[in-house]
Amino acid sequence: MAQVVDPAVLALEREGPRLEFGEVRFHPAYAEAGRAVWASGLLAAPPLESAALFYLLAHAGEAGHACPVACTAGLIRALRAHGSPALQERFLPPLLEPDYDRCQRGAQFLTEIQGGSDVGANRTRAVRAGAAWRISGEKWFCSVADADQFLVTARPEGAPPGTRGIGCFLVPRRTGDGRPNGFRLRRLKDKLGTRALATGEIEFAGAQAYPIGALEDGFRIAAGVVLNTSRWLNALGSAGLMRRAYLEASSFAAHRTAFGQRLADFPLVRENLAVMRVEEAAALASTLAVTDLVDSPDPREATCFRILVSANKFVTALAGTHVARRGIEALGGNGTVEDFSPLPRLLRDSLVFESWEGTHNVLCAQVLRDLARLDALEAVLGRLAGADGRVDSALSRLEPRLRRCLEEPEWAALHGRRQVWLLVRALQAASLVRDGASEALVELLLRRELTPGWEAADDAGYPGLVEAVLREESGVEAAG
Ligand SMILES: Cc1cc2nc3c(=O)[nH]c(=O)nc-3n(C[C@H](O)[C@H](O)[C@H](O)COP(=O)(O)OP(=O)(O)OC[C@H]3O[C@@H](n4cnc5c(N)ncnc54)[C@H](O)[C@@H]3O)c2cc1C
Repeated sequence: MAQVVDPAVLALEREGPRLEFGEVRFHPAYAEAGRAVWASGLLAAPPLESAALFYLLAHAGEAGHACPVACTAGLIRALRAHGSPALQERFLPPLLEPDYDRCQRGAQFLTEIQGGSDVGANRTRAVRAGAAWRISGEKWFCSVADADQFLVTARPEGAPPGTRGIGCFLVPRRTGDGRPNGFRLRRLKDKLGTRALATGEIEFAGAQAYPIGALEDGFRIAAGVVLNTSRWLNALGSAGLMRRAYLEASSFAAHRTAFGQRLADFPLVRENLAVMRVEEAAALASTLAVTDLVDSPDPREATCFRILVSANKFVTALAGTHVARRGIEALGGNGTVEDFSPLPRLLRDSLVFESWEGTHNVLCAQVLRDLARLDALEAVLGRLAGADGRVDSALSRLEPRLRRCLEEPEWAALHGRRQVWLLVRALQAASLVRDGASEALVELLLRRELTPGWEAADDAGYPGLVEAVLREESGVEAAG
């Protein structure tokens, strides 16, 4: 997959999608990359295998296909869990087709001009028309604008305001006779990142639509199934791009010299590489721990998934940007050059990953709301506990503050985000231990993130720890 996707991305970034007579047109490399991605079988694979393939896809940058895969995966899950047998029979098989030239791809349109976080403010309307429904209104951020099946949130006539009144609909791109199904693609967005991917603004005017699940469950399906699938895959995307950034930075530092020395022999360069290495390993570990919970029939595990998938996406997306930026620093001026390495692209994509599928504040608020509403704090902490005494100590410091968040929402409105951050850091440390990661990786993460008052300069063991982290990766061993 990487052999096809990696070179294709360069062409795609230079010549992104364009709109011609209302249809999206791509550089031929887009379909070439898509064929490799779809043929990998990612969409029909079980969660762990899908996760591995998505992670590898992200090594090359977004490539314009990670988002379509995530949206298609979300639609498949929504149809499987909530679609009527007739809807499943008609719409699922082409979504599962591994041949890119014959498959259909999904999209998910929730965001409107007045707000993306506040889906309850949606104004798009759904009106009953015989067995089907008609959708009218504007969607402001429509990624995979070229998709064949759109999942659209809309308010059925007479439904209450807020999220309770949101229905979840499937809108096919074309009507039975092949004509566009009551929508107009107004324009494509000129985005900072994920530039190979077509994101547009769409106006619906009486598009034929089919409800997925009960109308009153629309928001629950859109958020609980579709967005949570994307958040899981988004985190794998961040973990994958961090790994690539680390590999780019460490190989450059191993070969470049300055002042008669390899870059990789300067202590500050070594520290930068060690931090990148810890971050990418931690992101992968926590995301694989979340992957273990995907589709769990156990209600306690399903609750943990719901909470940890959002919390984890927040931390991995932010870390992705920090690590891509560290990678650029490691390459100096060359790091800023688009055709020297993928790092500028990874940085731009990672910034988009931060907003896509929920901004940090909104995800953290949802995590805290879910912890309270589902009375899930014990279940979540219990899942993290027992792997390592140092993690358990961090959790016992964190627990009272998390409880305070649940009891005092006003306090949580300012301080909750930091507590969710620490919760995920604890998940990462516990997961690294459980996965058998090196002691150095775990310890560096613990000291930097979960040790109150820790200061590198006062820690005599710090240089040795940095060395131990780098020793396990070839190419950046200390000289001599
Ligand atoms: C490249 C790209 C592609 C996208 N594709 C799609 C797509 O295909 N489908 C789709 O539906 N959407 C898509 N989106 C939209 C994305 O989901 C939204 O941008 C996101 O949900 C945030 O909504 P918003 O942009 O309206 O920001 P706002 O909701 O206006 O938020 C702005 C800022 O205010 C903060 N904020 C908002 N509410 C609160 C609160 N209660 N407490 C604290 N802070 C708060 C947010 O954290 C954020 O920092 C895409 C976005 C991007 C960048």
